[in-house]
Amino acid sequence: DDLSLSHPGHLADGFVRVRGARENNLRNVDVDVPRDSIVAFTGVSGSGKSSLAFGTIYAEAQRRYFESVAPYARRLIQQGHNPKVEMISGLPPAVALQQRRGAPSSRSTVGTVTTLSNSLRMLFSRAGTYPAGAEQLDSDAFSPNTAAGACSECHGLGVAHTVSEESLVPDANLTIREGAIAAWPGAWQGKNLRDILSHLGYDVDVPWRKLPRKQRDWILFTDEQPVVEVTPERDRVAKPYKGRFWSAKSYVLHTLADSQSAAMRERVLAFMESGPCPRCGGTGLRAEALAVTFAGRTIADLNAAPMVELAEIIRPTAGLKEAGTASRRQSSGEDNEVAVAITADLLHRITVLLDLGLGYLALGRATPTLSPGEMQRLRIATQLRSGLFGVIYVLDEPSAGLHPADAEPLLAVLDQLKASGNSVFVVEHNMDVVRRADWLVDVGPRAGEGGGEVLYSGPVAGLAAIEESVTRPFLFDDGGSTSGGTSDGGTAPRAAQVREPDGWLELAGISRHNLKDLDARFPLGVLTAVTGVSGSGKSTLVTHVLGEVVGSGLKNQAPQPAEPDDAGPATALSVGPVNGAERIHRLVTVDQKPIGRTPRSNLATYTGLFDAVRKEFAATEQARARGFGAGRFSFNVAGGRCETCQGEGFVAVELLFLPGSYGPCPVCDGSRYNPETLEVTYRGKNVAEVLRLTVDAATGFLADIPAAARSLKSLGDVGLGYLRLGQPATELSGGEAQRIKLATELQRAQRGHTLYLLDEPTTGLHPADVELLMAQLHGLVDSGNTVVVVEHEMAVVAAADWVIDLGPSGGDAGGRIVAAGTAASVARSRHSRTAPYLAAALP
Ligand code: ADP
Ligand code: ADP
Ligand code: ZN
Ligand code: ZN
Repeated sequence: DDLSLSHPGHLADGFVRVRGARENNLRNVDVDVPRDSIVAFTGVSGSGKSSLAFGTIYAEAQRRYFESVAPYARRLIQQGHNPKVEMISGLPPAVALQQRRGAPSSRSTVGTVTTLSNSLRMLFSRAGTYPAGAEQLDSDAFSPNTAAGACSECHGLGVAHTVSEESLVPDANLTIREGAIAAWPGAWQGKNLRDILSHLGYDVDVPWRKLPRKQRDWILFTDEQPVVEVTPERDRVAKPYKGRFWSAKSYVLHTLADSQSAAMRERVLAFMESGPCPRCGGTGLRAEALAVTFAGRTIADLNAAPMVELAEIIRPTAGLKEAGTASRRQSSGEDNEVAVAITADLLHRITVLLDLGLGYLALGRATPTLSPGEMQRLRIATQLRSGLFGVIYVLDEPSAGLHPADAEPLLAVLDQLKASGNSVFVVEHNMDVVRRADWLVDVGPRAGEGGGEVLYSGPVAGLAAIEESVTRPFLFDDGGSTSGGTSDGGTAPRAAQVREPDGWLELAGISRHNLKDLDARFPLGVLTAVTGVSGSGKSTLVTHVLGEVVGSGLKNQAPQPAEPDDAGPATALSVGPVNGAERIHRLVTVDQKPIGRTPRSNLATYTGLFDAVRKEFAATEQARARGFGAGRFSFNVAGGRCETCQGEGFVAVELLFLPGSYGPCPVCDGSRYNPETLEVTYRGKNVAEVLRLTVDAATGFLADIPAAARSLKSLGDVGLGYLRLGQPATELSGGEAQRIKLATELQRAQRGHTLYLLDEPTTGLHPADVELLMAQLHGLVDSGNTVVVVEHEMAVVAAADWVIDLGPSGGDAGGRIVAAGTAASVARSRHSRTAPYLAAALP
């Protein structure tokens, strides 16, 4: 038995010892990893790094913690799973900081997740400047999320929904009969309202814009609700009835407030304009709270200020040497000891966030609008203050989203976590971070079944001797420190020479977020990399602006909605003249969002290859004899699937005192199908067995089905040969999802004139996988398309035909194009913070 568990203070020899790990693809792995160190886990995507660091070490720590919790309390804690491992000794408790987006509906902000908002409210409550005679307020009164603080008009949301003639009547050329009042309900209800109007003497057959202003206003905005007896027009069967009139405005407001149906509320919202609440000016706070200031600013002002500015505002107070004593009666407590203590603490904590390159964020920024990398760095910074020691922090690529200029401070923060007595385990692809680790665990050599072994575990330099490591050439690419091995890694594949653009897409006067009246031009027919420090505006320019401008110009394509955006109208997109967009016929955004949110979607269904496979099954003699069509081989509809689990392959297991967990379906044994369906075979395998094949195995097996073969080849080309066809979407990493999307794109006939947008495509990818990805992107360009990537990985930037560098810094100190041109010319720019790193990556 593991004695060290109950005595974490006496963990014998400073190592976490893992024996017999078999989670996912791990092949009975034994490995010893030092505690109180920074340990990097490396290996190609799919090699098993996460299965070891998160799936085994972290999961086991969680499980033990869970076991030690009283049964009734366990129900409150979400249980992880039991990792497949024989034994782990020397294991302290673990905290995982993974890259996950906050729930999109949540009200959480940068200030709430870092708890900086609490301190700021305390500052205003205890040390703000109050108007003469005003009572000192409780700190709750400064929060829009409490009953005490919320504006009574908008309930703290800061947003008001209003209606206008434009929002209610989108097309003024229509008549009322033709549906000019789009906000009204459809079907018979709408007809009733029209009949009432006509009965009241309004002309429902002239274009809306020809009606007199007074009439239009009454129809849209009146609160009157006359009840009239109406004889339905044109409908001789219907009897006369009493009808009540609702103006468009009262109908919309009533539906929004009282309708039980979310779909109805959603529908009417589309006919409203949302803007800042007029009562609280969009702050969500009450007037009493907004009357209190600190350094001449309201708490709403400070919430909206980027943290770099906030730091400067509170710095003078934090540095006060002679603070007065706090007294309840003074109207201002700005220079008393409480103010000094709170501001000093705030400043200290904000400085960590500035060091992590997040100074452009404001405390009020909603977390759903943050990138996963920004979110994780916020959490890391918050942990520094937690006071925990003796724990293992397990991090997932903490460098994601970081410009090379910001890697140094991140390392300093990891060092600090270690210095406070913790272990820091990072799954990481950024070789600059890996080089600085105390210990390296390299997993591989390849992905999936070709990986799952620990190739090396020891101090970083020792990897140089491991021939079969795919990581080795990238880690020692200067050649000097390796043990004589030749090095060919570290540079992404490039075109033979820099390509010449065959046209330009020009946008003028772009304003959005921190882009202010920016002119930008993108070369067509080449690969462009957009660079800049975190917060400089790269995603805004590429995903929001380019995506929306080009997307909205394409008639044949549904608009691709941007990220959820709670920022309101202040950051609405505005663009002046656009030139060259007609040269783009299609827009494709390849992002890292999941390909599906349920286990019902998988690789095979997403790429469409499963359709071809099901048809092939239906065409077998066995299937035809039984009358089975292609639908019979779907696990998503009744017929062929197992009805016990409804084709999911697993069922929820209810355990007394334990939260529900999942187990394989006892009836179909996880195969998802009923026995009759499984009797049908194609070349000796039933449909469940085909879904269990990896892409590599299926490439041979399904070679005769052209549609499937095309998909499989594309998947193999982007390095996903190790995935199983039926692997549920929920088990795929963001990087895997992204490459599946890219592969699906590649399998289509090459059409040219497509614009591909990618935001940090290398996140989660080992440098070896980056090479595969880049080869594909260059292939797209070679067949006449345009590719624009947001990127921090300098090897990728160096291989681009054109570089647009934004900056110089983040937030309001960014948003400008600092340099644009070939990689070689941008590398020579004297103002670009990217230039020195790019210069180092150029051959
Ligand atoms: P890495 O972190 O190195 O990218 P992972 O540990 O995530 O690799 O994956 C290792 C292997 O296990 C891959 O083949 C992957 O597809 C598979 N895998 C990952 N998660 C699951 C899961 N929840 N269920 C089954 N297989 C999984
Ligand atoms: P990058 O991609 O270079 O890291 P972003 O385009 O994400 O930069 O951000 C540029 C600026 O715009 C930053 O100041 C950021 O805080 C702001 N910003 C980005 N997204 C939003 C949003 N949804 N709401 C408000 N501000 C935003
Ligand atoms: Zn309000
Ligand atoms: Zn079943």
